[in-house]
Amino acid sequence: MNRQDILTSLKSHSPAVLILGGGINGAGTFRDLALNDVDVLLIDRADFCSGASAASSHMAHGGIRYLENGEFRLVREAVQERNRLIENAPHLVRPLPTTIPIFKALSGLLNAPLKFLGWLEKPSERGALVIKIGLMLYDFYTRGQGTVPPHVFDKRAVALEKFRYLNPEICYAATYYDGSILSPERLTVELLLDAEAEGPHARALNYVSVVGIDGNTVTISDNVNQQTFNLQPKLIVNAAGPWIDAANRSLGLQTRYIGGTKGSHLILNHPVLRAAIGKNEFFFENKDGRIVLIFPLMDKVLIGTSDIPIENPDEARCTEDEIDYFLDMIARVFPSIKVDRSHIVFRFSGVRPLAYTQAKNAGQITRDHHIQEDKLGDIPVYSLVGGKWTSYRAFSEQVADKVMSYLGLVRKAGTQDLPIGGGKDYPWTGYIKLQFFNRVYELTGLPDKWPKILFDRYGTRAQEIAAFMAGDYDAALKHKTDMTRREIAFLAQHEKIVHLDDLLLRRTMLAFLGELTLPLVEELAEYVGEALGWTKAQKKAQVSRSLDILADRHGLVLPARAG
Ligand SMILES: Cc1cc2nc3c(=O)[nH]c(=O)nc-3n(C[C@H](O)[C@H](O)[C@H](O)COP(=O)(O)OP(=O)(O)OC[C@H]3O[C@@H](n4cnc5c(N)ncnc54)[C@H](O)[C@@H]3O)c2cc1C
Repeated sequence: MNRQDILTSLKSHSPAVLILGGGINGAGTFRDLALNDVDVLLIDRADFCSGASAASSHMAHGGIRYLENGEFRLVREAVQERNRLIENAPHLVRPLPTTIPIFKALSGLLNAPLKFLGWLEKPSERGALVIKIGLMLYDFYTRGQGTVPPHVFDKRAVALEKFRYLNPEICYAATYYDGSILSPERLTVELLLDAEAEGPHARALNYVSVVGIDGNTVTISDNVNQQTFNLQPKLIVNAAGPWIDAANRSLGLQTRYIGGTKGSHLILNHPVLRAAIGKNEFFFENKDGRIVLIFPLMDKVLIGTSDIPIENPDEARCTEDEIDYFLDMIARVFPSIKVDRSHIVFRFSGVRPLAYTQAKNAGQITRDHHIQEDKLGDIPVYSLVGGKWTSYRAFSEQVADKVMSYLGLVRKAGTQDLPIGGGKDYPWTGYIKLQFFNRVYELTGLPDKWPKILFDRYGTRAQEIAAFMAGDYDAALKHKTDMTRREIAFLAQHEKIVHLDDLLLRRTMLAFLGELTLPLVEELAEYVGEALGWTKAQKKAQVSRSLDILADRHGLVLPARAG
């Protein structure tokens, strides 16, 4: 069903379950319920995956440092979920060697047990022994699975041979494996599309908000055409992330579940730094315990992150102070590589939906997840508090079980081993990959570079996209020659694009990787507009909206505007 079909269906049919929020936790819950034949509608007041889930550090990880807080359950669950993501979504989640440069041997020895016992609020730099113990536990949790190799500990000389720009003051470097989520935004949309493919009982709408409540009737409004619809759900799942309390207020519920912390990131175009880190993420703890990560993302470098308490998630922006801090920290790890503001091509900031607590140190607030239950008249409202991107599947399973139990339904399908989107029938080896490219070529007759380009972007979804591209006249974009007009039309028509920025920021990585120019934005508006039936004035308005968002939230002022 397209957007209008779904909206029309709401006039005659109210869903049993209403999910507020299409970040990873809402999307995961939606898919699990869809698989189990539950009648469910998900709405997001903005685009899918435009909140915390788009602001993540792109790590599928267990969170080795949470061991020190005694969060063994969380870490065990997250490393297992990390492995599942690598196996179920191999087109978007890859094993990531992660290197910790270590400047001290014994530091943190006393702090770690004190923190574990809850007697120490103050973070500190970790030394080699504490890190070694943490990594042994980390390996222990996934022993026998073989998804990623175990950690290695290198002495100074070996580490400096491997990474010649690394600060010579280190005494060791430890390398272990986590996962890299290339595009959290695409992964979330692919999950939603998989869920909708289960049948018309599962429907998802972006740019739709709750505007009123009267007894058991919830009124929602389509933010594009301002149409309103009255629904009588049996149950509501509030998956609004850092906006959970605001979403509850729109339902007439006063809650204080979230005490979010802001985290920012930069994307750098710096070939020397990119070459210096190779395939490895560098994960480093500052003297005050703050984390810095230097992360390979395609041909760019991702730098993060901060952890600053914030009241209003809509105000999260990467500040000049944060940028100074990131640049200082890169210099601590790679002192001979000069990095400055001219290397920044994109910045982003978001708010972790952490449980509200009195903890003084933001880094010590638990990243674990739980469900808070309220009642709206007869309707239960489940608020999904906390959690990590990595463990969304386990959290969603817990929520779906609770929903089904309330509705008196029995689980008939699980998600543990279920591939996601372009991870289905994934060709794992080189030979099978070649067979896949040949099949796409035979089916579509597209020139032979395209099957590989599309596969690298969309995994096995490449076949469906290639078939669409071959279905009518197509041509490469003038300002981005490895994308085509019909590829853009496919995304516009099949991936729930409402605004141009959905394409620039979330269905593709164009903005993220600093590839946008004004002529390209205008060209993309042309082809998205053609696919969605925009007038000339609408295309112009969409370009303007995108430029405003890019400048305001991502510090990206496209050259033609700067003048
Ligand atoms: C800086 C940072 C770095 C992180 N790094 C990592 C990492 O490397 N690895 C990891 O595993 N985790 C990481 N996390 C944590 C992880 O990203 C979040 O826990 C997770 O994405 C939360 O997802 P969510 O679906 O609950 O919330 P969100 O993604 O915020 O989704 C909430 C959605 O609800 C919508 N919404 C808001 N109000 C309403 C309303 N009233 N009605 C309808 N919709 C509404 C929003 O538009 C949004 O799309 C990080 C988080 C941050 C902020």
